[in-house]
Amino acid sequence: MSEYNGYITAEPIAGAEAGPLASERVAVKDNISTAGVRTTCGSAMLESYVPPYDATVIERLNEAGATITGKTNMDEFGMGTTTETSAFGPVENPAALGRVPGGSSGGSAAVVAAGDADMALGTDTGGSVRCPAAFCGVVGIKPTYGLVSRHGLVAYANSLEQIGPIAPAVEDAARLLDVIAGPDERDATTREAGAESAYAAAADGDVAGTEIGVPTQLLEGADEAVVERFWAAIDELEAQGADYHEVELPSLEHAVEAYYMIAMSEASSNLARFDGVRYGPATESDSEGDWNDAFAAVREAGFGEEVKRRILLGTYALSAGYQDKYYRKAQDARAWVKRDFDEALKEADVLASPTMPVPPFERGESLSDPLTMYLADANTVPVNLANLPAISVPAGETDAGAPVGIQFIGPAFGEEQIVRVGSALA
Ligand code: GLN
Repeated sequence: MSEYNGYITAEPIAGAEAGPLASERVAVKDNISTAGVRTTCGSAMLESYVPPYDATVIERLNEAGATITGKTNMDEFGMGTTTETSAFGPVENPAALGRVPGGSSGGSAAVVAAGDADMALGTDTGGSVRCPAAFCGVVGIKPTYGLVSRHGLVAYANSLEQIGPIAPAVEDAARLLDVIAGPDERDATTREAGAESAYAAAADGDVAGTEIGVPTQLLEGADEAVVERFWAAIDELEAQGADYHEVELPSLEHAVEAYYMIAMSEASSNLARFDGVRYGPATESDSEGDWNDAFAAVREAGFGEEVKRRILLGTYALSAGYQDKYYRKAQDARAWVKRDFDEALKEADVLASPTMPVPPFERGESLSDPLTMYLADANTVPVNLANLPAISVPAGETDAGAPVGIQFIGPAFGEEQIVRVGSALA
């Protein structure tokens, strides 16, 4: 079970006797609170933190009869694309040994790909469900912002993230979505919309008459082998009665910059609570009552390099005098991305792109080069900026045997549409 280092804590939690997930083993990313079972966020800062309450999605899994297998490994606080920044060590990709499983929900995708769980929950702030699903050859859904409660999710960038399902097949991922979706009075950003939908029932593979838009910006610069698999999947959908057209979304060129500016700004604020007083290990520094020194000592020891980089950049971007220059501009770009998507979705039922522009990296390859890692998020982050739903579905492998994923993006609360199209392939 620990072969791929997919679990941080493999402690089962039993669910109700009966329910729609009664025979399912579900793994849960370790940034989702579980009462009595430690929740580390992949960070030394929270190595022994045990939440006193369950996240709403955990309550819903329990009621649905699921057996939770344990808490899965992840990039520290969800910041990464490879699951190599965890304080508990990197995760191996069971579908392509020697390569990364993707991130930041790499543990969740790996345990599903390895058969150590039937389904899993991940979280997607800028691609962290879809990227590991693509890299491990399984299915992942990033729900519309507001469809799934974030109560009990340890926040990285609240305005962008959603909890989402990972499973070997579209129908199974949709069954898990059926259980976790719907409004929650403890999360004021959740909506009524979509609560009555039947996602698993939508996995009927019927794509006759479906119009697919292909944003050309999301193919530019993508790896050749990935582009080849992408068009082969589109051909297959055409053979089943779908149509496609290409579409220009000029705002997408600024999406990665806008995403990282917003994500890092929100992170710098969210992570301020880890100070050794409210959360994190108590300090033993000889700070002689200087709380600044005491906080700094805990944060120096408890956070990894990538987390520190983001807190520094986010704090800088929000500082007096720079806010208009960086944060406000990023918000403008976010609004532009949203408008572009809304326009494109007037002419198409779904939009399609490769999930990731590259096949899974070799392990260790991107660690010393954060910028390369950020750019790999080019196709996933626009969806979070626009608050839309998207699914990643396997689209075969490269010649070297590395999994490739195709992503379908739908209109807000259009999960049934992306599930239907995805199910025509997997
Ligand atoms: N790779 C992106 C980041 O590092 C996405 C992470 C996520 O979705 N949690 O921010």
